[in-house]
Amino acid sequence: MNEKRPTVSEYFGEDTFSYKTMKVKLPKDVYKKLLKIIHEGDNLDLETANIVAHAMKEWALAKGATHFCHWFQPMTGATAEKHDSFLDPAGEGEYLERFSGKQLVQGEPDASSFPSGGIRSTFEARGYTAWDITSPAFIMRSGKGVTLCIPTAFISYTGEALDKKTPLLRSIRAMESSVKKLLKMLGDENTSRVFTTIGAEQEYFLIDKKFFDAREDLVMTGRTLLGNAPSRGQQLEDHYFGSIKERILTCMVEVEDELYRLGIPATTRHNEVAPSQFEIAPIFEEANLAVDHNHLVMETIKKVAARNNLAALLHEKPFANVNGSGKHLNWSIGTDTGFNLLNPGDTPHDNIQFLLILAAVIRGVYKNSDILRATVASAGNDHRLGANEAPPAIISIFLGEQLQAIVESIKDGKITSTSDKAFIDLGVSSLPKLSKDNTDRNRTSPFAFTGNKFEFRAVGSSQSTSFSATTLNTIFAESVDYITGKLESAGKDFNTAAFGILKEIFAECLPVLFVGDGYSEEWHKEAAKRGLPNTPSTPEALKALAQDKAIKIFEKYKVLSKIELLSRYNIKLERYSKQILIEANSLYNIATGKVIPSAVEYQDVMATSLLSTADALGSDSVLAPQKKLLSELSENISAIIEKSAVLKKAIHGAHGVSPEQAEADYLLNNVKPAMTDLRDLLDSLETKMADDIWPFSKYWEMLFLS
Ligand code: ADP
Ligand code: MG
Repeated sequence: MNEKRPTVSEYFGEDTFSYKTMKVKLPKDVYKKLLKIIHEGDNLDLETANIVAHAMKEWALAKGATHFCHWFQPMTGATAEKHDSFLDPAGEGEYLERFSGKQLVQGEPDASSFPSGGIRSTFEARGYTAWDITSPAFIMRSGKGVTLCIPTAFISYTGEALDKKTPLLRSIRAMESSVKKLLKMLGDENTSRVFTTIGAEQEYFLIDKKFFDAREDLVMTGRTLLGNAPSRGQQLEDHYFGSIKERILTCMVEVEDELYRLGIPATTRHNEVAPSQFEIAPIFEEANLAVDHNHLVMETIKKVAARNNLAALLHEKPFANVNGSGKHLNWSIGTDTGFNLLNPGDTPHDNIQFLLILAAVIRGVYKNSDILRATVASAGNDHRLGANEAPPAIISIFLGEQLQAIVESIKDGKITSTSDKAFIDLGVSSLPKLSKDNTDRNRTSPFAFTGNKFEFRAVGSSQSTSFSATTLNTIFAESVDYITGKLESAGKDFNTAAFGILKEIFAECLPVLFVGDGYSEEWHKEAAKRGLPNTPSTPEALKALAQDKAIKIFEKYKVLSKIELLSRYNIKLERYSKQILIEANSLYNIATGKVIPSAVEYQDVMATSLLSTADALGSDSVLAPQKKLLSELSENISAIIEKSAVLKKAIHGAHGVSPEQAEADYLLNNVKPAMTDLRDLLDSLETKMADDIWPFSKYWEMLFLS
């Protein structure tokens, strides 16, 4: 092949209606107006909308689009679309492609098919989608279908947010207004925009599609419900690392290619932890865009994998006893003047600003770690948080030793000003280099400072980062306001007042700071002593969302009203219960429909062989070990029959348990243990059966052959 492959920069973003495209396609004054709306939040008038819609349609038609859709993020895990054709009757049997400003700006999906967690029973049932002008429209290609997608918010007619985007946008505004007040106090006259930045590192598994299709558990639940870990596990990953199979490599290149066309700056990395596990890391972007883009990353991985006869597993724990998948939410605060507010500065003034911002993050997380924990609670993520895996369910903050020392010195009154010699010796301004502390201790922390951003590692691989980011923005805003309020009333010279408040905050919040090994048993004990919440299960963790503290803080910043927050709490509980019930039923079906019949068949093979062998030998004196084997097999089968019945009974017991919290609690305490008991027996049986009779592909086949 001597055809030249275009360089990425030549086609990057070509499937998005980006600033660059808009500049070319829109009249100059309309483009200017749109920029103003995007950056300053002005209202979009219908005339402008009509012009933009027309240009967008022409652009999309040229790309082969036949339909448009409003693309949104309902409160379930995935994204949703409602497709409409551009085709419009033009009289006398003629049809024309049309797309009006009204169609661009607002749509009406059938809200009744999306969960509202009780909102709809209280309020008006229907909702509408509204164009989120800050996230560019894009072209989605799937099979032969080409669709113009318009990112939208999804809101009920009475104004409640029915999606994940709306609260995120509200939280960004709240955070911006709080931070601008603080910056002003610090003498900043130039910053007009403050925004959250996010980079979401995504982990996932790729396995051969034929294995996926043949396993009821993977198809129904996204994870394997039975199976033993491979004998060659993560200790030998270096071997695997050297030989990414060609099909997987092709898949990755295709994923990247599609993402580049969508203007998503993501590159794949092989993840060294588990075999067949991978990671894709984007360059960070403004939060709203980054959250949208992470959804597209997940969808693209799944789509492209299927095209290559692979199955992408985004579940948090597809294989027991093999490393699970998470999503690292890298979070920081940027300004339109080009600063990252979590970047320790070079001057004393920058340092004090950095320390105040840092103190606000620490205080926000310390006081609201239970809410932050609840944002990542899900049935899938319970296999990571709270199980024997990173990170733990206890939310602590890792600052790195250098920064920890500065914080402690300020707390102890040893540093009282940025011109303090002790402070200069410790040198905040040299932190970025020093705190890139990639030790294992850092990696076990759920919330780590990594030089110029915080990294929240508790998000599950299949989850949206939206709720966690929304919460971080909100709790941060509240602490920024707390600091601003204190500074306003302090009256002393600014530096003294600032160090006074830093001292107070660091002293109060010290318990949340931890530089040790987050996996260790000692830390669990120590954290309990420090009074840090530790809720390893979803039903427990979610309770934080229904408490006054959460209601108040989200209401105060107009991010979520009480009813909006409680609806999210209910939806998360419902989803947990549904998922556990699906898993429990699948496991029961697998045990009774697949495993028991094939085990009985194998039992018969062994029994028949024993009888005929004894007959041939004229004695069974040498057959004792084989008889023992058969008897163990029979015991195992009988125990599976019994425990399957126990599981079935536990599942039946869930009928009619309400409200949502009680149902989830019931499933956690009754159905999950019954599943574990049954699984243990099934995994034990797997080791006793002949490979060719065992009705499932084994972990080693799925993880090592591709
Ligand atoms: P590390 O090696 O510490 O993981 P990387 O530079 O590889 O750091 O970044 C990891 C992720 O963090 C990337 O997705 C990156 O874009 C993101 N990131 C970097 N800086 C910021 C920032 N200021 N805000 C948000 N995310 C960021
Ligand atoms: Mg990371």
